[in-house]
Amino acid sequence: MSIPAIPLNTGASIPQVGAGTWPLDDAEAADVVAAAIEVGYRHLDTATRYGNETGVGEGIRRSGIAREELFVTTKLDGEFQGSDRAIAGLHAALERLGTDYVDLLLIHWPLPQRDEYVSTWRTFEKLHADGLARAIGVSNFTPAHLDRLAAETSIVPAVNQIQISPAIVRLEQRAYDVAHGIVTQSWSPLGGRKGAGSLLAEPVLVDIASRLDRTPAQVVVRWHVQQGLVVIPKSSDRARLAQNLDVFSFELSDDDLASIATLSQGPDAGVDSDREGH
Ligand code: NDP
Repeated sequence: MSIPAIPLNTGASIPQVGAGTWPLDDAEAADVVAAAIEVGYRHLDTATRYGNETGVGEGIRRSGIAREELFVTTKLDGEFQGSDRAIAGLHAALERLGTDYVDLLLIHWPLPQRDEYVSTWRTFEKLHADGLARAIGVSNFTPAHLDRLAAETSIVPAVNQIQISPAIVRLEQRAYDVAHGIVTQSWSPLGGRKGAGSLLAEPVLVDIASRLDRTPAQVVVRWHVQQGLVVIPKSSDRARLAQNLDVFSFELSDDDLASIATLSQGPDAGVDSDREGH
């Protein structure tokens, strides 16, 4: 199965569907990552805060797939914000992952009340220049945070990873990202651990899925893909991992997209940059 790749502003590209790994522990992450790679994933999403980078690294090694064929993202949380703190943070993450570089390093949350995301970003710029982070990006940033980075630093983030699902559509943030050449990545794309059950049971999704002979989860992953988003659904189950990747041989019609749009809770539901989440 060939997974489309979306170009980044670094010249590299990112596989459009990747595997999320929260809230897996090391042992679970090793199994899930090895299974994900076996069913065709080449893009893996972790974070120091998840406490599973060692397991993700173990899963990668177990898969036998060459490192350069994979796209690995990690994120550094508030503990590593502030001038130069991310340097030790990334070195430790690389050691746990068992790799010399990550394909993408993200500031996990802006935490604007701490007011350290600009100095953190300058440190990320150094880590990028040193080749330890092939691309650098942010997560949970709003247009105001990105405007400040643009005014005070030199590199435009390659990616902004934010919460998006058919219920939480984030149109303003997505338009900002497009206008600035930033790739938007969707976290909790199926509605999240607590929300996937109810989102995927929505009659609109169940009806479209049954007409297309797909599952509601496939309809939702396809919804992300068709809008040019990069999407990282998490599943601990091999069959569901495979299912979530198998979204490139059908299409949602304009009518389907209009029906799915009725699930939106409002253009900007779901944002809170002042706290740390997953
Ligand atoms: P998702 O929207 O990916 O939903 C995960 C839930 O959906 C799990 O309960 C999973 O259960 C279930 N599920 C997965 N596939 C299917 C399917 N085909 N059919 C039915 N149920 C399914 O939520 P996440 O919150 O995990 O988000 C994805 C990833 O995004 C995370 O794992 C993490 O890597 C990242 N993330 C980043 C954040 C950030 O701040 N940057 C915040 C939150 C997440 P099961 O495992 O049993 O299949």
